[in-house]
Amino acid sequence: MLTFDNRFTAELPGDPDTSIRPRQVLGALWSPVVPTPVAAPALLAWSPECAALLGLAEREVTDSAFVAAMAGNGLLPGMRPYAANYGGHQFGSWAGQLGDGRAITLGETVNARGERWELQLKGAGPTPYSRRADGRAVLRSSIREFLCSEAMHHLGVPTTRALTLVGTGEPVVRDMFYDGNPREEPGAIVCRVSPSFIRFGNFELLAAREAHDQLAQLMDFTIARDFPHLEGEPSVRRTAWFREVCERTARMVVHWMRVGFVHGVMNTDNMSILGLTIDYGPYGWLEEFDPTWTPNTTDAVGRRYRYGQQPAVAQWNLAQLAEALVPVFGDVAPLEAGLERYLVVANAELEAMNCGKFGFAEFGERERTLVREAYALLQRTHLDYTNAFLALGAFDVHAVAHDTTLDALAAISYERANFDAAREAWSAWLTRYAAALIDGAESAPARVARMRAANPTYVLRNYLAQEAIDAAEAGDASLVHTLLDVMRHPYAERPGLERFTRNRPDWAREKAGCSMLSCSS
Ligand code: AMP
Ligand code: MG
Repeated sequence: MLTFDNRFTAELPGDPDTSIRPRQVLGALWSPVVPTPVAAPALLAWSPECAALLGLAEREVTDSAFVAAMAGNGLLPGMRPYAANYGGHQFGSWAGQLGDGRAITLGETVNARGERWELQLKGAGPTPYSRRADGRAVLRSSIREFLCSEAMHHLGVPTTRALTLVGTGEPVVRDMFYDGNPREEPGAIVCRVSPSFIRFGNFELLAAREAHDQLAQLMDFTIARDFPHLEGEPSVRRTAWFREVCERTARMVVHWMRVGFVHGVMNTDNMSILGLTIDYGPYGWLEEFDPTWTPNTTDAVGRRYRYGQQPAVAQWNLAQLAEALVPVFGDVAPLEAGLERYLVVANAELEAMNCGKFGFAEFGERERTLVREAYALLQRTHLDYTNAFLALGAFDVHAVAHDTTLDALAAISYERANFDAAREAWSAWLTRYAAALIDGAESAPARVARMRAANPTYVLRNYLAQEAIDAAEAGDASLVHTLLDVMRHPYAERPGLERFTRNRPDWAREKAGCSMLSCSS
């Protein structure tokens, strides 16, 4: 049984218009909207860990009234559904009002530990912010969001969570690559769970409209509800708050770099004020290490949101947020200090990340050079990012020859000829790497334990998610359950799960969904 207190709608100004007619919503931070019922809800998967956060037992999640609520076919007592009003910079340009076009928050619940969790359906029908779109989500994108939310959590990456994946029993029409080939696909709804779904774009929209009183109101609401540990005078709290937003964003993005996650659409409407990974769309996981890689075909030309660019984009996004906050802060100094803090934290975290990934006990000039050279070699020899670090974790620093490690690296190259041409370079690098590790004077078990904690064995490989999608579209959701299970313990190698660590197979190289996705996903 969930209890709701719904502070967002209780404390912030709402839209008096209850219709779902697409419109500019002025003077309100949210619009009341009820989910549109669907034909045949079916609970395809749910996350026990996420249910536990809410204090829900299995029989409660699988209960028919609860499943109906997760499909938008009914509300539970205390729910007060709404769509949030926000704007954003999309691909570097101000896009004006966007808002929850296919997300509907059901309510904010508080669990027995006093933690606040907002429940939000994605794909539950149109809202005033749907513009000309349908407010729905397809099964493939819903599976991707459901699995990745939970996988990221288990990987230790700050993220929104996913409670349920429900099939709607209704088709949704999508033109996957915007190439004039629309087709019907099965529809689905994910219930996302987060302490807050407030984005940078909520603040930016109010600033763009010069609604400075509401901007201050939203800022103070966010601090009071979502950053209750911040104390002191309002101006002191606000300064500390922006600094913390910058720090959290830095930590999140470095985690992405560590696990090889590419968000794909880092628009400011997709940036959580809590520094959580949010809005899983055309995201992807690095296969061969390539800082220029992006899974998002909509971004194929400019590659704005490529893997290696993510820390810089996060900083740019924070600068847009800072710009929006100027009218309330008055003084730009605390905002500049926050942005400065982002750089400091991101750089320190990147260094700590590399210490963990490579097993360095210290990080001096020698280690910095080794790291730079290793990434260049990874790219040149087309190594699988995840598997390369597992191979380094198994490296015997005292071995006379490096053949075991070199063979292991060769086996995970996507371009074997490139690896063979650089085998000597790798060998020379390993010799210097071994010397640095030996000089680090850390015991091998301690070093390997740190490396294991930094380098996942299992990630939600693009082709694995696609296999789960293909099976689920054919009526079998069992691989969704298997992947949810595999990703529960991503750092512990387990017998029998070798297939989930394999390099991308050839069939997946150019297959839609595996390495190429569009925003419509
Ligand atoms: P995204 O790139 O998925 O973060 O979406 C950008 C904007 O488009 C947000 O305001 C979404 O709510 C909206 N949007 C995306 N897909 C749909 C859809 N199928 N129906 C309504 N609105 C959508
Ligand atoms: Mg979005």
